[in-house]
Amino acid sequence: VVEARQIRKSYGEVEVLKGIDLTVRQGEVVLILGPSGGGKSTFLRTLNHLETPDSGAVSICGERIGYGDRAGRQVPLRERRIAVQRRRTGMVFQQFNLFPNMTALDNVASGPVHVNDVPKAEARAAARELLAMVGLADKTGSYPAQLSGGQQQRVAIARALAMRPELLLFDEPTSALDPEMVGEVLDVMVRLREEGMTMIVVSHEMGFARAAADRVVFIADGLVVEDKSPDLFFSAPEHERTRQFLERIL
Ligand code: ATP
Ligand code: MG
Repeated sequence: VVEARQIRKSYGEVEVLKGIDLTVRQGEVVLILGPSGGGKSTFLRTLNHLETPDSGAVSICGERIGYGDRAGRQVPLRERRIAVQRRRTGMVFQQFNLFPNMTALDNVASGPVHVNDVPKAEARAAARELLAMVGLADKTGSYPAQLSGGQQQRVAIARALAMRPELLLFDEPTSALDPEMVGEVLDVMVRLREEGMTMIVVSHEMGFARAAADRVVFIADGLVVEDKSPDLFFSAPEHERTRQFLERIL
């Protein structure tokens, strides 16, 4: 589903991504770990073109993001067309990023209505189902400020799902949450995995890594240092850099 090849990105003089390769297959859950400032968020943003790489290529479902086929040539696309490609990828952020002036139901239904031209009644019915799926059937009329962090994050997941993405990206989805709310969000993510959703998750939740990740990818200093099954990653990391990191967080 995802193919990232030699992704490079600099901010001014600083090269943040130094040639990242990552392939993710349909239904796989990949956990990304790494030290602060190592480029995890920047990399995740290049996957849906919120950040344009300086070089390298990202393909989602076989289509190169940011490029289109014209007369057999790959040509850069305009922003409008990129927005269409971006819809295949849902993203969930640390800070939820819900619309504060909309109810939970409208937060979930608004994307399909305004972006995908789904009829309002249909979008609202689908939103109700999604909110029920994340355990919030009784909160459809609540505004974000009336919800706990864990509930807001579950609304954000339902909102991402409403666009029927092929792939979900999570950037530290539980790090803004009080500890007692982390579990309810991880439970939803584990359910999505069981339903076959492809996910790339930046998170330091080791429990989730062990229980739900198919692979753990360690990114440091703009490079993939290690890419392994959780078992091997935690028991037999190959690189000194990985071992140092694990010693500090475990
Ligand atoms: P964290 O674990 O703290 O979230 P990270 O691995 O997600 O870190 P990034 O946010 O990708 O790291 O940042 C990598 C580097 O790029 C950092 O040094 C950061 O300061 C720099 N950086 C990120 N975004 C920008 C930007 N828009 N302009 C300039 N520098 C940036
Ligand atoms: Mg980050």
